[in-house]
Amino acid sequence: MTEVRVRFAPSPTGALHIGGGHTALFNWLWARHNNGKFILRIEDTDLVRSTKEYEQTIMSGMVWLGLDWDEGPDIGGNYGPYRQSERLDIYRDYAEQLVSEGKAYRDGEAIIFRVEPGQDISFRDIVYGQIDVMSDGLREKDSDKLKDIVIIKSDGMPTYNYAVVVDDHMMRISHVIRGEDHISNTPKQILLYRALGWEVPEFAHLPMILGKDKKKLSKRHGATSIYEYRDMGYMPDSMFNFLALLGWSAGDDREIFTRSEAAEWFELSRVTRKAAVFDFDKLNHINQEHLKRLDPSVRLGMVRPFWVEAGLPVADVEAKRGVKYLEDALTLMEGRGRTAKEMAEFSDYFVSFEPVKARWNADGLDKDKLRPFFGAVFSSEWKAEKLEEAARSWVGGHEGAKMKDYAMPLRFALTGMKVSPGIFEVAEHLGREECESRLKFYGLL
Ligand code: GLU
Repeated sequence: MTEVRVRFAPSPTGALHIGGGHTALFNWLWARHNNGKFILRIEDTDLVRSTKEYEQTIMSGMVWLGLDWDEGPDIGGNYGPYRQSERLDIYRDYAEQLVSEGKAYRDGEAIIFRVEPGQDISFRDIVYGQIDVMSDGLREKDSDKLKDIVIIKSDGMPTYNYAVVVDDHMMRISHVIRGEDHISNTPKQILLYRALGWEVPEFAHLPMILGKDKKKLSKRHGATSIYEYRDMGYMPDSMFNFLALLGWSAGDDREIFTRSEAAEWFELSRVTRKAAVFDFDKLNHINQEHLKRLDPSVRLGMVRPFWVEAGLPVADVEAKRGVKYLEDALTLMEGRGRTAKEMAEFSDYFVSFEPVKARWNADGLDKDKLRPFFGAVFSSEWKAEKLEEAARSWVGGHEGAKMKDYAMPLRFALTGMKVSPGIFEVAEHLGREECESRLKFYGLL
């Protein structure tokens, strides 16, 4: 079999969006599954809208997702250059060839490819199956005239349909994997391959991504750029996992997986043509599962920036109590928080007492009633089980006393929150000294 070579060919006219990230990812999966090559080609023929900054953001978005490429404008390769703006001579040469063969003609500065009637330009898409098209279908709008294909515009730049054919051929692309919005371009590209005497690659078009309301995914549905998800605290591992499941399934309900597992299992034949729905609940679930599985130091690395952003003295705590204190705090959180950002919010009390004070004042509490309980708890050895034992035995020894009436103020005084991990585990981790000072602040000790 010939080597699998696939490409992601973004136009650098914006950030890397969900749709682009999805296309890039499926190409990457197919390359890695087949030990092939994944090529990044920048389609920057729209000189007005293309910028080097966008090219950079697209590349760093890919890096963030974990999609590494084997050839591209930054690293080169045997089939470059990998920016269309640097390949203008190539496009011109082949266009001249078509003119000299009578297959294209000049119209002013532009070069136009002649579409002959009666040609079968059907193709078999790996995902969408047989697509039947005759060249006679390529007509001018509302007329009988066949619409010829502009290949070089009057400004000298190649058109998309033409440049993509030249590049895919010269870069030896074996499979063209891209969004289904390009199905309608494929027959025109097939005509150009034939005219140039080149072999036509395989095509696999990917289903559209819809919002929950079944409308094409757009800004209205929330964040559309990959970076917005990073900034919301989604992990690249989960974003990768989530995007891979849009239009593909690994079978056997395998929902949570790593990049290399996905690459091993990926099959283009399992890609569905049914539009995929972008479901935030699912993304949250996947992210939560990945957060739980993370190595503690990596997890801390993800959560830390959100604490810093919230103005918490993370560096001081690390210096005083060690990095492990914070890592263990997050392990204690046991999957609470669907994103690193939420996890940071839910665990801020491990870093500082300030947010606790801001959330809770002990107003209305019968402190005199509570103090003896806390006194008893604090005379215990500082271990979660021992603390709990002390609390239970105090409550048991006091007629009518209920555990929750005592545990709740304890939870609030330590965390400022109604829900938290087991409060005696939290207390053990915060340490006797810190708990003492928090309870004293509230007059509970
Ligand atoms: N630059 C095109 C786009 O971003 C590439 C389409 C293709 O993969 O052929 O839509």
